Amino acid sequence: MVIFSGIQPTGRKHLGNHIGAILQYVEGQDRADPSIYCIVDLHAITVEYDRAGLRERVYDTTATLIAAGLDPDRCILFRQGDVHEHTELTWLLSSVTALGELNRMHQFRDKSVVQRQLVSAGLLMYPVLQAADVLAYRAHEVPVGEDQREHLELMRDIARRFNERFGETLVVPEHRIPQVGARVRDLQEPERKMSTTGGSEQGTVYVLDDPDTIRRKFKRAVTDSGTDVRRGDGKPGISNLIEILAVARDVGPEEVERSFEGLRYGDFKTAVGDEVAEWLAPVRERYAELRGDDAALEGILEAGADKARAIAATTLADVREAMGVGPARHAAGRSA
Ligand code: ATP
Ligand code: MG
Repeated sequence: MVIFSGIQPTGRKHLGNHIGAILQYVEGQDRADPSIYCIVDLHAITVEYDRAGLRERVYDTTATLIAAGLDPDRCILFRQGDVHEHTELTWLLSSVTALGELNRMHQFRDKSVVQRQLVSAGLLMYPVLQAADVLAYRAHEVPVGEDQREHLELMRDIARRFNERFGETLVVPEHRIPQVGARVRDLQEPERKMSTTGGSEQGTVYVLDDPDTIRRKFKRAVTDSGTDVRRGDGKPGISNLIEILAVARDVGPEEVERSFEGLRYGDFKTAVGDEVAEWLAPVRERYAELRGDDAALEGILEAGADKARAIAATTLADVREAMGVGPARHAAGRSA
């Protein structure tokens, strides 16, 4: 079984990334062979970005993933831009991707309206590159947050359409969206997901925030006018805090509700802040140890890219062969 997922090099990863994606990556190391995780620098350039900082942000994200529990000896961890097969496969797959579908993607709609300089064709093509990322490894399972469900459906369509037209070549992947914490919400605007680009600073808890900052953000979290620490319709704020604490404690949300029966929102928010700060502290400490050594991080990414390339090159050769691109693979053998 092959697991694949990608994450953007936006330096500071938040609690939504940690719970919705990164914890799933860590767990996947024990179930898959191989589990493959990619830092998607080529996705990051589809919107305005800081060119000088991009390499540094890749190292930040690499160190964050390792600090959270990824082990480069037990998974393949690499930088997308190092494996050229992804971009060639993107082009080949674009010919079995419907323009109308790309145009309808929520992420494209949301992100294109906030671009001030340019809505790039890259932003529209983002899901095709994402499909190439996954399909290049013939991954069976893709751990992601709820916001990526639509892109996963599109990549399944792309794989199916390819196989129908050119013969069984690609694996149609399944998404793996966590039961609890699939959509961690912004603490200040709980109707929205916690987000790197779209959220509020006070409502976004970063994995690397210091404990006081984490406590303060939770203490100020927006809740609702009710009093019971219970999930429910119309209670996105309190439901969010319950789910977050459930994941931090590694218990079900009902158990969190039970343990706060009769307590007030204020006490509950203080408890969530304290426990989350304590839960994330070791990740922050390990990050600080790892982040100082750029050369070591670069070495990990390079070694990962070598392993990734070996797999992706095989798939790409099969795709080219199926599509009739380049010389026939066994031309020499046939003519003999
Ligand atoms: P952006 O808002 O710029 O898209 P992002 O915060 O979504 O950034 P990504 O690197 O795009 O960060 O996402 C990495 C992973 O984290 C994806 O699998 C995504 O589904 C997941 N994820 C992102 N936000 C949340 C969230 N609020 N709750 C749960 N999972 C999330
Ligand atoms: Mg995202």
